[in-house]
Amino acid sequence: MHIKKGDQVEVITGKELNKGKRGEVIKVFPKENRVVVQGINIQTKHQRQVQSEGKTINPGIVKLEGPIDASNVMVVCKKCNRPTRISISREGDKAVRVCKRCGGLID
Ligand SMILES: [Zn+2]
Repeated sequence: MHIKKGDQVEVITGKELNKGKRGEVIKVFPKENRVVVQGINIQTKHQRQVQSEGKTINPGIVKLEGPIDASNVMVVCKKCNRPTRISISREGDKAVRVCKRCGGLID
C-alpha cells in the first residue's frame, strides 16, 4: 500500500459527507486495504448503560473514526499541496514516494 501512517490525505471519492476533506492518516490496515483518517468518517457509538452499585451510569456517546477504503483517498503532496498519484522511485537502495504532478518527495 502506498499510504503510510502520518500522511496527509484527501478523500476523493466515497460518501458525499467525507468527499474533499483532508486529514492525517492515523491507522493503516494493509491487508484490508483500508485506512483511518483523523476527522473523516466519524461514527457515533452509543455505549451501553451500565449498572454499578445500584447507580446507573449514563450511557455515553463515543465518536470514533471508522476505516475507509484506501482507494478512496489520495496522498496530498507537501510541495504542490494537491492530492496526487504517487510513483515509487529508488534513491540508492531506498524506495521513495514521488509526486506524479510535481516530482516532489512525499516522505
Ligand atoms: Zn506535488
